[in-house]
Amino acid sequence: MQRFKGKVAIVTGAGSGIGQGIAKRLGCEGAKVIVDYIGNPDGARETLAAIEKAGSEGEIIQADVTRIDDVNCLVDTAWSLFGSADFLVNNAGMEKKSDFWNTPETDYDQVMAVNLRGPFFLTQAFVRRLRDAKKTGRIINISSVHEDMAFPGFASYCTSKGGLRMLMRDLAVELGPFGITVNNVAPGAIATPINKALLEDKPKLDALLKNIPLRRLGTPDDVAALVAFLASEDAAYVTGSTFVVDGGLMRNYKEQ
Ligand code: BGC
Repeated sequence: MQRFKGKVAIVTGAGSGIGQGIAKRLGCEGAKVIVDYIGNPDGARETLAAIEKAGSEGEIIQADVTRIDDVNCLVDTAWSLFGSADFLVNNAGMEKKSDFWNTPETDYDQVMAVNLRGPFFLTQAFVRRLRDAKKTGRIINISSVHEDMAFPGFASYCTSKGGLRMLMRDLAVELGPFGITVNNVAPGAIATPINKALLEDKPKLDALLKNIPLRRLGTPDDVAALVAFLASEDAAYVTGSTFVVDGGLMRNYKEQ
């Protein structure tokens, strides 16, 4: 399917994991893609190669979403190279594990800067250009089931994702009159580098799988399919919501 021919997407954190899956999916459906990465140039090249193989094109940019100059560069490059930026996927994210008592200030600052401040100012740069060009657009934030659900040992992560939830809700209202939709996709446990430690700990992994009604971890493709829907014309009237893709994890409360 070439649903996104003529569209341009910016995907942050597209060198690995969920972001890579999303960038490939949008590109394979015809979008031109700005492939942002920070630490994985080989992964970013792999992402772009898949997009080119499918007949589309893109540009790799190493941009740190916590730096204003870098986020401006993502948006400016989309417009100067491809003449537009229609979809913004705020995917880049990180987590740091520590009990609340011992969370260092530096960990808190870094998690908030990547997961919340980054999307805030990148979205600002993205919509300013749309406003000036009188164009509509789509913003899709990759949050987490932990925008809603507690995750002991990850208070800073939960704080950032809860913030992203309210940012999405607020912007859906503020940007709706400009024809810009804003939604969150909330993945559960997806097999990606962010949870490498969990994937390598068999007892923990087995316990988690027991809590997932569909009995498997998700894949980046599972998430990308939902993002593609939200970017598509079929989702023209969808804004201000979170869409969970977690194999049922969030609904599976069990008495011990
Ligand atoms: C986190 C993972 C976690 C999953 C389910 C995600 O947001 O990044 O570390 O396994 O939620 O709890």
